Amino acid sequence: MYTKRAILWFRLDLRLHDNEALHEALNSADEVIPVYVFDERTFLGRTHYFGFPKTGKYRTQFIIESVQELRQSLRNLGSDLIIRVGRPEEEIFEIAKKARTSWVFCNRERTDEEVQVQDALEKNLWSVGQEMRYSRGKLLYYTSDLPFPIQHTPDTFTQFRKEVERYVPVRSPLPVPESMPPITVALEAGEVPGIRQLGHQEFEPDSRSAITFRGGEPEGLRRLQYYLWEEGLIDDFKESRDGLAGGDYSTKLSPWLAQGCLSPKMVYYELRKYEEQFGRNKSTYELFYYLMLRDFFRFMAKKYCNQVFFKAGPANNAIPPWRNDRHVLQAWIDGRTGVPFIDANMREISHTGYMSNRGRQNVASFLVHDLGVNWQMGAEYFESLLIDYDVASNWGNWNSIAGVGSDPREYRNYNILSQAKACDPKGAYVKLWLPELEGLPPEKIHQPDQLSSSEQEELHLRIGDDYPRAVVSTDKWSS
Ligand SMILES: Cc1cc2nc3c(=O)[nH]c(=O)nc-3n(C[C@H](O)[C@H](O)[C@H](O)COP(=O)(O)OP(=O)(O)OC[C@H]3O[C@@H](n4cnc5c(N)ncnc54)[C@H](O)[C@@H]3O)c2cc1C
Repeated sequence: MYTKRAILWFRLDLRLHDNEALHEALNSADEVIPVYVFDERTFLGRTHYFGFPKTGKYRTQFIIESVQELRQSLRNLGSDLIIRVGRPEEEIFEIAKKARTSWVFCNRERTDEEVQVQDALEKNLWSVGQEMRYSRGKLLYYTSDLPFPIQHTPDTFTQFRKEVERYVPVRSPLPVPESMPPITVALEAGEVPGIRQLGHQEFEPDSRSAITFRGGEPEGLRRLQYYLWEEGLIDDFKESRDGLAGGDYSTKLSPWLAQGCLSPKMVYYELRKYEEQFGRNKSTYELFYYLMLRDFFRFMAKKYCNQVFFKAGPANNAIPPWRNDRHVLQAWIDGRTGVPFIDANMREISHTGYMSNRGRQNVASFLVHDLGVNWQMGAEYFESLLIDYDVASNWGNWNSIAGVGSDPREYRNYNILSQAKACDPKGAYVKLWLPELEGLPPEKIHQPDQLSSSEQEELHLRIGDDYPRAVVSTDKWSS
């Protein structure tokens, strides 16, 4: 009997629950060959404009762990995960020819680099009479369920939300299949590469990290379980979300959502279940709100395509005179600007790959509006380093803060000093990341540049030696 075979190409959907491509493949073929390719351009390449390592060590490690977990889960179901390092359009094409498959199933990506890869693979497959079959895997909402075509998606999040939240149902997540057909073609399974092979040294997680982020679907589901059901932290989400230190002030689901270890629909449905049991409140709504915001940025990336990466952004206004100043950028990256609130946040990201939302907003605003540095440099540094990097969320948020996003009212110029005093009144967060400021009292902690010589002597802190001089006087935010 003729066996209909398909490849299932895992990409940013490293999970078995709510995986549409997986279901379509199982429904269409007798035999499914799951494949993951560590794309050498993604791991060993450089960012587009400024040449940072494309995928920093924290995200690389997280992805390695996620792929290991996925392989184990597939083996538990009777299948396996074929692993390659190279270019998906070549590696998958080779497997497709060897296994004489009919189709490659995958969840479709919408941003340029990802689209180029899927288009190149599709072209190769056509040359041997095979096809790509696309599904959807990243969003809360299906584009086909929206009351407007993508090109007419409202440019403001508020408008988008109003048109969607009450009227468009979130579809139920798909279940994990009970079993999978074994792979009968003789294919080398391939090893999960080590972090060195992907361009980084091994490292120990920093003990100050908000949480230990371990990649994979089981860990993502555990984190969701912990935040909602075990600890009920969701009840205070609205109040605590602007926190800076520790594991509990926000969900920390972002790395698992970004790699697709968790489906947003799954998070939404767990939230609904929680509300059915404990009631709906402002905090449960708030999490739903941010999942919608995540979708919104994705729709904007689709609507405006590569404009989200351009200096003038989707707004396409006259370009402000931002400089490509590598020297100033480096002080920002190293957490050596002499502004403690900024430096603490920048050291957190460089030691862990994570930073709170409040931190991200402030360091981005500071870079763009106080230092006058090109926002694309900041966006690419984040692209390189963030453990939860997500194309649309990262570039969309940078667009907003720089004031070049689809909604010009989103322009955000933060008063860093007020933010620091409100979010870190005692300076505990600053001291966690800047131990050299340990001896400063709360009323001085956010403005060491304003210390007189006698105060410096008294506090055993020499500005310029023990801690950098401020690149921008903190006095500018006092008035
Ligand atoms: C300059 C800048 C860059 C950013 N880059 C990224 C990025 O690359 N990847 C990323 O996932 N988020 C990004 N964010 C958004 C936000 O900071 C993170 O999603 C959030 O801090 C992750 O922590 P959490 O999971 O605890 O979030 P929570 O506050 O618990 O929120 C729950 C989930 O909602 C989504 N979400 C929350 N806020 C936003 C937002 N502003 N935009 C889009 N989605 C949001 C995330 O998926 C998040 O996991 C960025 C924000 C800024 C200001």
